[in-house]
Amino acid sequence: MSHSPKFWAVVPAAGVGKRMNADRPKQYLPLAGMTVIEQTLACLLQAEVFTAISVAISAEDPYWPELAIAKHSQVVTAPGGRERADSVLSGLMALGVQARDQDWVLVHDAARPCLTSSDIHRLINTLINDPVGGILALSSHDTLKNVQGQTILGTLDRSHIWRALTPQMFRYGMLSAALQAAEGNPAVTDEASALELQGWQPKIVEGRPDNIKITRPEDLPLAQFYLQQAHNEEQA
Ligand code: C5P
Repeated sequence: MSHSPKFWAVVPAAGVGKRMNADRPKQYLPLAGMTVIEQTLACLLQAEVFTAISVAISAEDPYWPELAIAKHSQVVTAPGGRERADSVLSGLMALGVQARDQDWVLVHDAARPCLTSSDIHRLINTLINDPVGGILALSSHDTLKNVQGQTILGTLDRSHIWRALTPQMFRYGMLSAALQAAEGNPAVTDEASALELQGWQPKIVEGRPDNIKITRPEDLPLAQFYLQQAHNEEQA
């Protein structure tokens, strides 16, 4: 008997975000009346496609249990890991027996609060019949240099270069196996790279440029601006 695949989300949220120089991890900084992670989860919930959202949280995190969204019926909390890939694997494992190998999982960084429902649906609609899956990505508008120290060794052909964003959408079974096989490999900085190491060729789907990752202090006012713009677009 075949089942139509379900959709799950996994949100790695166990990082400390050192480059923000803040008194708390960046996912708990205030943004447009909520915290960063609440904005991120609100967008995933609004998309109305996920059976559950598994959020990987550090064991020493005092902020998460204080948020009402931590008790939301569709939100599952998983223990965070040492690296992002460990947190994602832990988030997948927390979905446990409920998830089937053929189900789709969208992995999305807690630190990307400006994701829109339109990007989620475009990713899903483009990849739903793909055998592997893929990621949201952005082409590079800047000329890109290969540099050693302060010296330019060459210029990359930017027509082949894309910046990987999240969500990244893969089958539950294939993604779990690829992350398990890649455990401890520092080259695995996103889900697609774990799949690539297994010989798969994930697809890219062009994403919106406002889907930024909060990394530095100046990203917060920019994110606030993008959220306001997206809100205005919805009202128009
Ligand atoms: O540090 P960076 O911004 O690349 O992290 C991307 C996402 O991965 C963030 O949402 C962060 O909380 C998460 N992360 C994690 N576990 C780690 C490191 C990062 O869940 N050990």
